Amino acid sequence: MPFATACCGIELMATGASKHDLARFGAEVMRFTPRQCDLMIVAGRVVMKMLPVLQRIWQQMHEPKWCISMGACASTGGVFDTYAVVQGIDRFIPVDMYVPGCPPRPEQLIQAIIDLQDKIQNEGTIYGSEFKTSQRQQPKRALVELPIIGQVPVRA
Ligand code: SF4
Repeated sequence: MPFATACCGIELMATGASKHDLARFGAEVMRFTPRQCDLMIVAGRVVMKMLPVLQRIWQQMHEPKWCISMGACASTGGVFDTYAVVQGIDRFIPVDMYVPGCPPRPEQLIQAIIDLQDKIQNEGTIYGSEFKTSQRQQPKRALVELPIIGQVPVRA
């Protein structure tokens, strides 16, 4: 669920573009209905008027669900230290990953997605039952260090 409100949204769009190829990490499918989403990416500043919308969309998403706060504005309000701008969305919805920067590069967002996948794999969801099968316990391919072409992989 992309919740892009300002300039960070442009970087979010760039992350989904072909140059960065988010599909390598299984996260390229963006849905615009909360019923089909398990990850909300808040990109850009959120104003107080927008806050009820953000919270409503978050509540409409099914569990398990996660949130990435992208950029300084979403995480802290950024330079907009005013009464109208939310000084960090984690005051109102739970955030799993923070991406620093103004704006963050697409590579940073991709790293946050990988870190979140890692976190979910280690901690499981709120029930965790879907992670109990042995197949699910295997590290995702994106998280396994692949040998560089032309180099002999070092074995422990
Ligand atoms: S963090 Fe910077 S780039 Fe992102 S929304 Fe705020 S001002 Fe714009």
